[in-house]
Amino acid sequence: MTIKVSVDAGHAGFGVTPGKRALDGSMYEWEFNDGCVRHFMDELSKYEAVEQLRVDDPTGKRDVPLSERAQKANAWGANLHVSFHGNAGPTTASGVETFVYPSTTAHNRQVALCIHNHIINATGRKNRGLKTADFQILRTTKMESLLIEGGFMTNAEELALMKTDAYRSKVGRAAAAGIAESYGLKRKVEPKPVAPVQAAQTQAAPTIRYMYTGGYAYDSLQKVHTFLFKGAHGYDVKRGPDGSIIFLIGPFDTSAQNFRDCMAELSKFDSNIRLLTREEAAKWRDK
Ligand SMILES: [Zn+2]
Repeated sequence: MTIKVSVDAGHAGFGVTPGKRALDGSMYEWEFNDGCVRHFMDELSKYEAVEQLRVDDPTGKRDVPLSERAQKANAWGANLHVSFHGNAGPTTASGVETFVYPSTTAHNRQVALCIHNHIINATGRKNRGLKTADFQILRTTKMESLLIEGGFMTNAEELALMKTDAYRSKVGRAAAAGIAESYGLKRKVEPKPVAPVQAAQTQAAPTIRYMYTGGYAYDSLQKVHTFLFKGAHGYDVKRGPDGSIIFLIGPFDTSAQNFRDCMAELSKFDSNIRLLTREEAAKWRDK
């Protein structure tokens, strides 16, 4: 069975809903509510057998009336409606509280309490408990519903948290986890990990590097040059700023056997063979 979850971010932003902002005007309540909703929906989408519908205006430009929000959820046939809000009160008040309609079902209370507890555990904020209220959105949505007050905008410490995406993520995702637990939702199977062979190729790709050797010792350089000349490795002869001879050898896939062979052979000669960094190689290539 698929469960249908409708959700709304309380109010609207950009001053569209009068009041409903931090005391110092630094955040609209909607910004917090919207952040929670986005994380909530993203998290819930990771589960099977759940459909979602957002019934407010996701742009925050229009304060969709509560009657319209409830009507959308009802018409869609939601099984559960979740409303996200930020609280206001005395500056000393803080914490999270969740509301259900007074005469709602025991199951609704149970689901709401599970969600509430998940949010308390995730945020570590003061637990103000599960409460009842005759809020319009709770009264007019026909299905089970709850309203989360995820923190007090009027409390300086909590407001600072509520402005962060990290806190909004905690509230939204914890609420989704509470729904998953309540309804026994199964997490979708994650995309298959990349097959080992492909993984090795992916890892090998960025390790293509050039080797460098050079110096002044004529005999040694002669041996290096002879080896390179006869071998199958690409190379380029450069002259260093100090007049030394430099062999830019490669490019190599450093995970491949031919790289190891070449390195082993060149190490036998009296030369300062070493792997170049990408930056060094680029510098030398362009000379
Ligand atoms: Zn509100």
